[in-house]
This record gives sequence, structure tokens and C-alpha cells, in this order.
Amino acid sequence: MEIGVKKTVVTPKAIIHQKFGNKACYKVEEVKEDSAQNGCPGLAIPQKGPSLFRCRLELPEFTVVSDICKKKKDAEQSAADLALKMLGNNPADENPSEKDPCDALIARIKYLFTDEFLSSFHPMSGHLRAALQRKGGLYGLIPASVIAACDTKTSNLCKLLNTEVESKPFLALSLIMRAIPRLSGFVVTSKGQLSIQKQNPYPTEIIESSDIQQCSTESILVKAIQIPASLDETIQPVTLDISSSGYYLDVIAQKLGVTDASKVLLSRTIGKASSETRLYFAASESLVMELLSDHANVKDFHVKGLLNARASYFCGQEIYGDAIMASVGYTWRSKELFHEDVSLQSYYRMLISKIPNGNYKLSREAILTAELPSVFTTKANWRGSFPREILCTFCRQHQLSEPIFSPTSIPLKASCKLPRSQKKLKVTEAAELATEYTNGGSLNAGDGESVGLESSFRCEVKVFSKGQDLIIECSPKEIYKKQSDAIQSASLQVLSWLNAYFKDLGMPLEKLNCSADALDIRLTSENFLKEFALCQSLHNVQQCGNQGSKLPESKSTNMEYTLSGHDVCLPNIEGSYSGVCPSSGSLLCISYSVSLVTEGGHTKELIESKDEFEFEIGNGTVVSTLEGVVTQMSVGQCAHFNMNLPPHEFILAAVDDPARIVSLLSSEICSLEYHVTLLRVTEPSEERMEQALFSPPLSKQRVEYAVQHIKKSSATTLVDFGCGSGSLLDSLLDYPTSLEKMVGADLSQKSLSRAAKILHTKLSAKSDAGIKSAILYHGSITEFDPRLCGFDIGTCLEVIEHMEEEQACLFGDIALSYFRPKVLIVSTPNYEYNVILQRSSPTTQDEDPDEKSLSQSCKFRNHDHKFEWTREQFNHWASKLAERHHYSVEFSGVGGSGDVEPGFASQIAVFKQESHLDDDDLPTQENSSQHCKVIWEWNCNDRSVPSSTRN
Ligand code: SAH
Ligand code: MG
Repeated sequence: MEIGVKKTVVTPKAIIHQKFGNKACYKVEEVKEDSAQNGCPGLAIPQKGPSLFRCRLELPEFTVVSDICKKKKDAEQSAADLALKMLGNNPADENPSEKDPCDALIARIKYLFTDEFLSSFHPMSGHLRAALQRKGGLYGLIPASVIAACDTKTSNLCKLLNTEVESKPFLALSLIMRAIPRLSGFVVTSKGQLSIQKQNPYPTEIIESSDIQQCSTESILVKAIQIPASLDETIQPVTLDISSSGYYLDVIAQKLGVTDASKVLLSRTIGKASSETRLYFAASESLVMELLSDHANVKDFHVKGLLNARASYFCGQEIYGDAIMASVGYTWRSKELFHEDVSLQSYYRMLISKIPNGNYKLSREAILTAELPSVFTTKANWRGSFPREILCTFCRQHQLSEPIFSPTSIPLKASCKLPRSQKKLKVTEAAELATEYTNGGSLNAGDGESVGLESSFRCEVKVFSKGQDLIIECSPKEIYKKQSDAIQSASLQVLSWLNAYFKDLGMPLEKLNCSADALDIRLTSENFLKEFALCQSLHNVQQCGNQGSKLPESKSTNMEYTLSGHDVCLPNIEGSYSGVCPSSGSLLCISYSVSLVTEGGHTKELIESKDEFEFEIGNGTVVSTLEGVVTQMSVGQCAHFNMNLPPHEFILAAVDDPARIVSLLSSEICSLEYHVTLLRVTEPSEERMEQALFSPPLSKQRVEYAVQHIKKSSATTLVDFGCGSGSLLDSLLDYPTSLEKMVGADLSQKSLSRAAKILHTKLSAKSDAGIKSAILYHGSITEFDPRLCGFDIGTCLEVIEHMEEEQACLFGDIALSYFRPKVLIVSTPNYEYNVILQRSSPTTQDEDPDEKSLSQSCKFRNHDHKFEWTREQFNHWASKLAERHHYSVEFSGVGGSGDVEPGFASQIAVFKQESHLDDDDLPTQENSSQHCKVIWEWNCNDRSVPSSTRN
């Protein structure tokens, strides 16, 4: 073979995939071999012979069962091969590596024009039958473009002859036209046209037996979309009246402004796997001339005409001039013409489904509300398509190979000091392992001592082009307890990066690599840019086309979804405060509606609404403004706010009748108005578990523990480090204590404002409380601030695990060396207790029965936890800390018992100052800045209650 052909063997499975996508379902079963035959005769122990496999392949129309094979892979290929035979494709004569593709192409074209092919079920044979209904000189003429597009075998052969056919479909025509002279006597081309015809007419009995519909009187109107090449022109709906003509391609030709079907070029099918949706465009005079001329080298091809960037982006092929998108054609299933309307809305939906974020929005049917989350927390809290699924769809949509997921299990070391039991060892080890990883340490997994222990998982994802060139490789460092979580998280990482790319298609290469680096992604830039060249061209065309253009499509096809300026949103919240509030990790249920409103409020169009919409808060599952608003709400309250418009594609994909909205968008300044009601809040799994297992709930028990301590002491001042929403401060107001001053400090402004509301209500209602002053500070407790110094008692409940480990250590040192409360109470989860929480937690709405609700994807109780310590780790930290700063320390806890394995659920350390240092001995802070901001302050003197009620 002299031609520069890339020798790719197209496997039967690949062909089946091309035809049926995920409608092809493979089921491999192991075939039990008869032991008597393979094993040792007379041996009582059953002998297992070598494993053998058989594969059932289920296709929409029929099912085949493969031969018995030694490998699962081979069984699948064998089934696919059988199915192809059933479909009339004979892979043996298709396998192009065995034959000269040039000869194979000629043989194939010849076969398409045989008598028996005319009446077969094949997407191509429908065209042959329809051609016999064409009138006059067009009778029996088959456009070469149809053969190239509708016969997979021909198109594969053309791709073998010239790999550029993949992106330039019209090049296949030239290959087909050049093959025809070698079929003289059998088929002929019609002069000056890209058409082929059988030289001798079909015998009449063949025509009669081929059910060629005689002039159907049925009226067929198919809705389609016109995509102008110029970005200044809008996308328009068009109607194809295909009842009047014998051949639908002639109708499309007319719409495209050319004489007949031979000048119509077809893209590959786009959208869903079994879709018949294609883009149609006209071959210009010059293109026809060039295709007909006998070019020695197709590489020198020059297409004159305007690249249709929008259409090209859809199919990943070069489309020139105006295009029509229609869903019409012949299928494998029936001899009748298949047709389906393509509405403007479906156009925009297909458009946005090409980017991961848009795909996720569609799968949640919340186009103006949902966002692809930034992290995969738990399977139970995830709604909509899973990351792995979205990534596979993305690859299919962009003509890439299916992504390869390689999960690896990381065995845990068996060496351990005094293993108490197998179970515990596992968690202890996992904790150590996790710590090693967060510290950037490397794991010696090849220790050889990993027998019988549970593993953890990591997953690598690779994305290849159709030609198997590596494009993206993602190797996240994180490890997961479950293999599926590792896969989902790695997939999400790739998706997040792709999203960023689509938001900014003009990103320079260095920035591209830099952003990839941050997500553990390695990019083969050259391959990547090659694959996504058409997106780039869209971007470039847009940049020029944009100037002065006010049309919606041209303005925002790059899917930019900037929310800048939205984060500062003052929502109107209505309804009384119920106290049931969301916190990070909560699952929320809202009802909402989004309307498009014009400036001045004259027009208002409802464009999206849902009665129940569930999402997890804290990981960007909804547009950021909405997330910001709902965190300020309590159950039962409503809110409304306005937002700037997202890219118009999203709006047009959401509405039923985009045409009307398009005119509104182009003539008026609009914004979106959201109305939201918070229906339910389900607490994060951590609290759910704790509440199910402990009565009173663990969080209550922690607060109770601290309250008892405070009551017993004669403390008058208290500082709560990391006070959150103020649960401890709030509870303290329920008891008589000696406290006069209470202070809370936290990093979260949302939590603080909630704490402020609660404390304010309570303090204002109580006239006889001993509290004289209460202050909430916004700031980090790992930084010095003189106003947090010298308190009688300090508390820090379930906070340190929310910081990185070195920050937690820093807090310990700052607290005991600078803040120096007389007593400091610190609580944090006991990692060893997680097994129990896992085992007894109620099953949630999880489909996977072997999964427990406890943090399926993260190894900790809450996805915001940066670490969780075993008792040993905690004791070590606290003892060393106390020693350094002249404190004593005692250990205790709540939930469970300290005497029974695995100890308390929450472990507590109580530090006590051993010697009171003189002020002079205290380390001084030069330039001690007051970095904390007062968020709220209450003084008994400025109580709103009339002073006469007090003494
Ligand atoms: N102590 C509270 C809240 C625990 S949740 C309770 O028991 O209910 C942990 C809290 O620690 C969060 O509110 C978080 O904002 C806060 N936090 C984490 N890191 C912090 C830091 N460096 N400085 C101050 N607060 C921090
Ligand atoms: Mg916590």
C-alpha cells in the first residue's frame, strides 16, 4: 500500500458504538467450565478451570450472544462482530487493514448500487429509493455527499484515505468522485454534478418489491433551524415542507438557495447517540469545481467562503456559508423517512450541553439556577448527572475517545503499634495516611505488609483524541475510601478545568497550563488546541464579529458567566425568622421562579420555575448570588433579588419560545428577578449521624459539657474561639452563671450574623441576665489580637479540624502563649469513632446499598474537615502544647465512654494555667494590631428595654 494511510483497525465494538452509542448494552457473564473435564479426576475438591466468558449484546432491535472466549474483551468484540453480521455489515470485508482502502472503497460503492441493497434496511438505501421519486433529469441521481455521510463504511474508508476527512467532510466527496471512473459500466457520474447514478436501471420487480412510496399525500412539515454564517445575523426557525417532493434533500437545497440535492453537503450527526440531526450547507460553485477536478493532492484544497463558526462548533467539522440544522433522514429501524422538529429551544439546549456546566444545568433542569459544583462531597447529596457521566458525554460531544479511568487502590501498611483490633487499625492507619498526604509526604505503599487490610483509592483520568493522542491527564493526589468517589472526584476536576477553558476561550497558553497545574492536570497543549481549534475559531470570529453587533448570539457564545458585582447583593427577605438555617454541607430545598424583567419594569416574563429544588450548600451548586441569599434565610422565609443576565444562550435554552425573548433581549436592557422560598433544610451528614446516634445530640452534649465547666468555675469573662452561629453563647444565656462578659470570634461572617441575631433577641428579652457585655468579632483566631487576651475561660469547640493541621498547631501556641485564658477547653472529633458512626447511621437516599451515609467521598465526618485525629494524635498535640506553655491538661469527651473502645465520639482537652504570670512576663506584641472587626456589640446600658425595669 503506497498511500499514506494511518493503519487504524476499526474494531467491531467501535463500529457498534458509532452506530448505537450507549444504546448498545454489553453484558459479560462468566461461563462455568465443567470441573470433571478440566480438573483432576476423582478429586473431591472442585477444580476451577480457566475462566471463560460469554457476552450478550443488547441492541434496540435485537440481541446477540457471543462465542465463548478466554477474555472478557474478546467476548465483547465477538458479540459486536456477530451483531454487525446481523446488520449486514461484514467486518471481514470491512476491515480495511486487510485490503487496499482504495479498492475497498470502490467495492463498497459498487455494493451500494446493487439490486439487493435497494430494499435493505440501511440509512443509505432510503436515499436510493427516494432518488427514484425525483423528477426529470434528477431521476435516480444520488448526491455523493449522501454516500459520504450516510454510509458509515464509506466514510470510514474515506477517513483512512485521508485523515482530514474527519474535520472536512467535503473532502470525502472528492475521494468518492475519483473512485467512480473505476466503476465504469456500473455507475456513472452526472456531468458537472456531484451525483452518482446506477448505469442500468433497476429491474422492475426489484423496484416493485422495494416499497417505494408512491407520491405520499401526507403533509410533512419539519421545523428546522437556520444558522447564518455571519455572526451578525440571528438564528432563525425555518420550516421544511417535505410532503411535496420525492426527496427531502431537494427541499433543503431550495432553502439553502441551490438548485438541487447534489449541491447540499452534510455534516456528521450531532447530539444524542441515535440522533439524525445534521447540519446541511451548500457547496459553492467553486467548491463543486474543485471537487470535480482531478486534484492530485487534496491537501491543497482551498475553500472559498465564510466559515460558519457556530455551525462548525456544533459538529466539529468545517461548515461554510449559511447552514440548516434539521433532524431528518433514513435510519436502520424503518424504511420510512424519520423526522423530528428542531426548535430554537432545542438548538440552544444542544449548544449549552456542549460545555460541562451547561450539561449539568440541563440535567438538573435548572438552567438559570444550577451550577456544576466545585467539589464532589457525597453521592447522597449530588443531584443531576454524575461527573463521570458528564465527562463521557463531553468527550462524545467533542468527538474524542471515551475517557479512561484508572483507579488504583492504595494498600494500608500493616505495621502499627499495639493494634487493638482490625477495625481500629484501619481507621488509625487511614488517618495517618491522610495526614501524610496532606503534609505532602510520600507514601511507601510497596511495603509488602498490606495483607488483609482495607484500601483507599485514587483515580487517574485520561482523555484521548479519536486518533488516540493524549490530550488531558489528571492525577489528583486525594485519596478516597471508595473507588467510585475517587473516580467521580477526578472526573469533576477535569470538568472544572474544561469549564474554565470554555469561559475564557482566548486564554493564553501559559495561563491555560497554569490553571491546569492547579487541578493536577497535565495538558498536551498541542493536541488539546488541535482538537479544540473550532472552538477557538468561534472565539476569534466572534471577536471581530462582535464590534458594533448587538445581537444576542454573537455577544455571548463563549459562555462567559461572570457574576462580578453580584456577590454584594442585598436581598429582600420576608417572613419571620424561624431559626432553622442552612450551614455548609446542609441539603436545602427551595421553590423558585426566575423572570426576565426590563429596566423600568414594564415587561416581565417568567422563564424558569420549580416547586422543589434540592441542593447542597457550600460547594457552588447554585449561582453564587442565590447561594449567598439562601444562607441568610431561615426555613419558611422568602426572598427576592435581581441579577444581571447570564449569557443569552442560557436564557434562550430555558424558555419555551425563545423567538419572543430574543427580540426583548435585543431591544431592551433586562435583568433577572429571582423569587425564592426556603422550604427545608437537612443538616449535614455529620449532624444527621450524631443526632441519630446520641440523645441529646452530640453537639448539644459538647455545649452542655462546656456550660457545666463554666457554671462550676467562678469565671466572669469568656471567649469562644470559632463561635460559629453562637450555639454555645446562646446556651450559656439559658443558665445562671457568674459570667459578665462574653466574646465570640469566627471567620465566617454568615455564621456571625446569625449568632448576632440570636444573641440580640435573647439578651434584649432578658432583663435580669448577669451579662453586661457581649461582642462578636470577625477575624481569624490564629492571629493575635489584644482584645482576645486574658479571659477567665476560653472555649474552642469543633473548630481546629476545620483548619489545616499547622494552623491548628499555630492556634494552640497563640492561645496559650498570647491569649492565655486561665482555662481553655478544646474539642475535636475522635477519628477512631467514625467506624461506629458509619455502621449505625441511618441509610439515606443513596442508591448504593453498600454505602453508608457517612461521608462517602471524604474520609471524615464532614467534608469541610481538614483532618480528624485519633486519640493518640490529639493527646500528643495537647500534651506537648501544654508542656510548652506551662499549662496542665486533662482529657475527657462526650458521646460514648472514655473507658470503652474506641473512646469518646468527641474528644476534649481542658488546659489549665499552672502559674499565673505577671504582666511583665507575658510576651509583648509589638505593633499589636487589632485585626479583628467588631461585627456586633451589646452593652447592658444600651438595652432598648426601658431602664426602669432594671435596678
Ligand atoms: N464552635 C461552634 C462552631 C463549630 S464549626 C460550634 O460548636 O457550634 C467551626 C467554626 O470554626 C466555623 O464557624 C468556622 O468559621 C470557624 N473557623 C475555622 N477556622 C477559623 C479561624 N482560623 N478563625 C476563626 N474561626 C475559624
Ligand atoms: Mg466540625
